[in-house]
Amino acid sequence: MPKVRLPDGSLLEVAEGASVADVANQIGSRLAQAAVAARLNGTLVDLSAVVSGEGPQDLEILTDESDEALSILRHSTAHVMAAAVRRLFGDGVKFGIGPAIADGFYYDFDVPGGLRDDDLPRIEEEMAGIVAEKAPFQRRDVPVSDAEALLDGDGQDYKVELLRDIAASTLAEGEEREHAEAKPEADGTVSLYDTAEFTDLCVGPHLPNTGRIPAFKLESVAGSYWRGDERRPMLQRIYGTAFFSKQDLQEHLVRLELAKQRDHRRIGKDLDLFSFHEEGPGFAFMHHKGMIVLNEILEYWRRLHRDAGYQEIRTPTVLSKTLWERSGHYENYRDAMYFTQVDEEPFAVKPMNCPGGLLVYLNTKHSYREMPMRVAELGLVHRHEKSGVLHGLMRVRQFTQDDAHIFCLPEQIQDEVVGVIRLVDEIYSTFGFEDVRVELSTRPEKSIGSDEMWEHATSALRGALNACGISYKVNEGDGAFYAPKIDYHIRDCLGRSWQCGTIQVDLAMPERFDLTYVGQDNAEHRPAMIHRAILGSIERFLGILIEHYGGDFPLWLAPVQAVVLPVSEKFTGYARQVRETLYGAGLRVALDASSVKVGAKIRKATLQKVPYMLVVGGKEQEAGTVSVRDKAAGDLGVESVEAFRDRAIEEVRAKRLRPVAEGP
Ligand SMILES: [Zn+2]
Ligand SMILES: [Zn+2]
Repeated sequence: MPKVRLPDGSLLEVAEGASVADVANQIGSRLAQAAVAARLNGTLVDLSAVVSGEGPQDLEILTDESDEALSILRHSTAHVMAAAVRRLFGDGVKFGIGPAIADGFYYDFDVPGGLRDDDLPRIEEEMAGIVAEKAPFQRRDVPVSDAEALLDGDGQDYKVELLRDIAASTLAEGEEREHAEAKPEADGTVSLYDTAEFTDLCVGPHLPNTGRIPAFKLESVAGSYWRGDERRPMLQRIYGTAFFSKQDLQEHLVRLELAKQRDHRRIGKDLDLFSFHEEGPGFAFMHHKGMIVLNEILEYWRRLHRDAGYQEIRTPTVLSKTLWERSGHYENYRDAMYFTQVDEEPFAVKPMNCPGGLLVYLNTKHSYREMPMRVAELGLVHRHEKSGVLHGLMRVRQFTQDDAHIFCLPEQIQDEVVGVIRLVDEIYSTFGFEDVRVELSTRPEKSIGSDEMWEHATSALRGALNACGISYKVNEGDGAFYAPKIDYHIRDCLGRSWQCGTIQVDLAMPERFDLTYVGQDNAEHRPAMIHRAILGSIERFLGILIEHYGGDFPLWLAPVQAVVLPVSEKFTGYARQVRETLYGAGLRVALDASSVKVGAKIRKATLQKVPYMLVVGGKEQEAGTVSVRDKAAGDLGVESVEAFRDRAIEEVRAKRLRPVAEGP
C-alpha cells in the first residue's frame, strides 16, 4: 500500500490508486472541503492526482489559506473566462496564454472583430453560468503529436506554436517562467485540460471544478502583441481577478478605485508637477512645482550622505562604446541602450553610472588608508523601455538614480553594508514607509567568480542584516550573475509593494577594470566594490510618494506650503505683508488676491492640496494675526504671524509627516 508523509512528518497509509482528494478525505472532511490542490513530492498537482510510487511520498494539501492558492484560483478562473469567450464568440476564437499574475489573471484572445470593454459584462455573465455548472477541470496526458493534431484541427495556431516550442524546449528563459503553459513529461506526453467546451494546453494545477470560484471580476481589455513581439499579431488581453470570498474581492475593488483616484499621473497634472509629451515618449518634463519637491528630496539626500561620509561625483552621459564593452553592459544590456556617434566613433548614452565611476577610481592610485571610499552619484541614466510598458513616472526612459559605489577592503564589506542599511532605514522612515520587506538573493546557477568570493560576499550581507536585527527572506539562486544582493520593497498606504533600494557586492567589475589599492604590505590588492541605490529612480520615487500621500505632501515637501487668503480686496495689502514675512523666513507661501469669495479660495487651495490656508480680514489686520486652516486638521484658530512662522518652520525642520488619508 502506498504511503504519504505529511508536512508534520507523520506517515499515512493510503489505498492503492488513492487520489490526493481521497487522502484529504481520509485525514478529515473539513480538510477535504477546504482543499484546493496539493504539493506532491515538491510539485503542484490537482486533487485528482493519484498517489503512487515506492516508499513514502511527500504530500502537502493546499487549502485556500495557502500561499499558492490564490494564483491557482486565478489561473483556473482564466480557463473559465476562455471557456466563456469560446461560447460567446464561437469556434473562430484563437487562444494565446492565460496565466495568473500579481493581482489577478489575464488571457490573450484573437477574436475576429475584436473585444471591447463593454463585452466584459456578458463574458462575466457567461462565466457565472459556467461556475454554476460546477464543471470539472479534467486532465488528460496525451502524446505531443496527439495534442498537436487536436489543437491544429481546432485552428489553434498560437497553441500549436507554443506546443512546438515547448517540445523543442526553445522557450526563452523569461517566457518559460512567466508564460509556460505546458511542458513535455519524460514520457513524451503533455497535459491538456478540458473545462466546459474549452480545451487548453496547460501544466496545471487547477481547482477541482469551476464551482470552487466564489468571487471574480473582469477589469479591462488591452491590446497585447503575441509573445510581446511587436512584429507578431496584436491580440486582445482581458484582465481580471478572483478571490476566495466576496468580501476580499470587494476590498480589492475599493483599493483599486482608491489607486485610480491617487494615480500620480492624474495628481501630477492637477498639481502642475510634471507632464509628458508625444515629442518625448517616456521622458518626463518636470515643472517648477515638481522640481521643488525633487530638489527638497535631493537636498535632504545630499545632507544625509555628506554626514555619512560620502563624496559626490558626476560622470558624463555619453561615453565611448569601448567602455561599455569592457564593463559588459554592451554584451548584456545593449537592447536597452541608446547609441550615438562622437567624432565618427561609436558612443553610448549611459544606462548605469558604474563604468564612469570606475574611471574616476582609476584616475588616481589608492591606498588602504583611504578605504572605505564611499562615492555617490545622482546620475542621469537612459534606458530604452518598450513603449508598451511606459507608465507615468513609474516607468520612464530617462531617470536619476541615487547611486553610490563603495570601494573597501574585503573585511570592511559587512560594516559598510551595515552603514547602508542604517541609511536606508532613516530615509524610508523619514518619508513614512514603515512597512519594508527585505530580500537576500544568493548565487545563481550561471555566475562568475569563485566559491570563496561568493561565500564571503553573501555571508557579509547576511551578517550585516543580522547585526541590524532585520528579518529577511532568502531568494536562493536569485542574485545577479555578478553579485549577491539585498533588495528593499516598500509598501505604500494602498498595500502595494515597490522595489526601491538595492545593495550588491560586485564580484565582476573590480576584475574587469583591474581596480587596485596599495596595501599595508606595499603590494597591490583588489578592493571590494558595493553598488547601492536607496530611492532607486528619483522620478519613480516621486511617483510613489504622490500616490502614497495622495498628493498631500508633508510640509517640507509641499510645493506651496501655505496660501494667504484675504477675505476681500480691502485686505490685499496686509495679506501681501504676511506673505512677504513668511516668504522671507524661507517658507513657500502664495497669495490668492483674486476677487472671488473666501470660500471659493479655500476650495481651490484644498484642491491644490496646500497644507495651510491663512485667512486674513479686518480683525487679523488689526491684531497682526492670521486665521489658520490646516488642510488635514481643519480650523486651528487665530495665531500671530510670528507664531505661525515658527511653528511651520519647526514642522519643516522636523520633516513631520502629515496623516496619510486612507481615502482619496
Ligand atoms: Zn491552466
Ligand atoms: Zn553601480
